[in-house]
Amino acid sequence: MNAPISDQYRIETEPLDMPPRLLLGPGPSNVHPRALQAMSTAPVGHLDPSFVAVMDEVQDLLRYLWQTENELTLPISGTGSAGMEAALANVVEPGDVVLVGIAGYFGQRLVEMARRYGADVRCVEKAWGEVFSLDELRQALEEQRPAVLALVQGETSSGACQPLEGVGDLCHEHDCLLLVDAVASLGGAPFFADEWGVDVAYSGSQKCLSCPPGLAPLSLSPRAVAKVEGRDTPVANWYLDLTLLAQYWGEQPDGGRKYHHTAPINMNYALRECLRLIAAEGLEAAWKRHRESAELLWDGLGELGLECHVPREHRLPSLTTVRVPQGVNPQEVTTTLLQDHNIEIANGLGQLAGKVWRVGLMGYNSRPDNVLRLLDALGRVLDR
Ligand code: PLP
Repeated sequence: MNAPISDQYRIETEPLDMPPRLLLGPGPSNVHPRALQAMSTAPVGHLDPSFVAVMDEVQDLLRYLWQTENELTLPISGTGSAGMEAALANVVEPGDVVLVGIAGYFGQRLVEMARRYGADVRCVEKAWGEVFSLDELRQALEEQRPAVLALVQGETSSGACQPLEGVGDLCHEHDCLLLVDAVASLGGAPFFADEWGVDVAYSGSQKCLSCPPGLAPLSLSPRAVAKVEGRDTPVANWYLDLTLLAQYWGEQPDGGRKYHHTAPINMNYALRECLRLIAAEGLEAAWKRHRESAELLWDGLGELGLECHVPREHRLPSLTTVRVPQGVNPQEVTTTLLQDHNIEIANGLGQLAGKVWRVGLMGYNSRPDNVLRLLDALGRVLDR
C-alpha cells in the first residue's frame, strides 16, 4: 500500500503575472527584449555542435567585453557571487596571503569568501564612497606581501568606481595577482583587462549586460592560469574548478568537449544576444551612453536639491548613491516609487543604510527617457 498523497501544498495558482517594473536599483536591471526572445529559443543538448558554436561565440564576445586575449574566458553558471567564488576558489590556496581593499559591502564579501578557502586575509579599508590611491595600494602591498590583491571596481554599495590603471603593474612588481570584481561595472564603465594587467576578473549577467541573473563572465590571465595549474591542493569547490570547466569550454585533444555540468543553455542564448548587442553598439559608445545618462541623472538630482554621496570624479556611471535629505524616510520613498510609479530603486546597505538611495542606470536601462521618468517621479514623491 502506498501512503496517501498529501494535497497540503497542492495550492491553486494563477498564470504568472508580474508588474511592469522599471528596475533602477543595483540590479537586476531590465532585460533587453531581444535577450528574452533569445531565451525562448528551444534548447539543444549541451554537447550539441550547434551549442558548442554558441559557446565559442560567447567566449569571443566576452574577450571583446573584457578587452583581453585570455584563453580562459567563460561564463560561470551562477550569479555574480558564483563568479567571485570561482575566482577565489581557483587562485587561492590555503595559507595564501590575500589582501582585500574594502570600501563597501562587496569588499567584505570577498573577505568572507577568501577566508573560507583558507586564505590568510589582510585588509586595507576606506570609508564607503572613497577609492584607493596607487600610493595607498603600494604601501599595503609592501607591508603585506600578498599572493593576491582583490579590489572591487564598481562598489554597488557605495557608488564609487575604483581606478585600476597602474594597479596591475604594481601587483606584478610585488609578485602578486590582481583580482577584480566588475559585477556592477562591466559594460558600463571602461575595463581593459590586458592593458591594466588584471589577472582574474569576474562579473554578472544581470547588470550592465541587460541579461537575467544567472551567468558570471570570468577571465583569467596566463599568470593566473599558471597559479591554478601549479596548485599543491585541489580546488576545494568541484562545481567551480576551472581546470575541469576548461575541458568543457575549450577544445580537447580529440576535438571534443568534456562534460562537466549541464550548461544553462537558454541563459547562454540570452548572454550571446546581449553580447552581440554590445558588440554592435561598440564598447566606447556603450561606456559613453552610461556616462551621459549618469550625468543627466546627477544634474537632475541637483535640480531637485539632492546630493550625490561620491565626489564626481570617482562616481560609478552605472550606480549612483544619493544622500537622503534630512527629515525624509528613505523606505517610504522607495516603497512609493515602487507602488505608485512601478520604479525600483534601492535603499542603502551597511554603513550607508538609511543615509542613501542607490540608483542604477545599467545596460539597456541607461537611457535619457528612464532618467527623466525617475526624476519626475522622485520629484513628485519628495514633494508629498
Ligand atoms: N559584486 C558586486 C559589486 C555586486 O554588485 C554584486 C551584486 O549586486 C555581487 C558582487 C554579487 O552578485 P550576485 O548578487 O549576482 O550574486
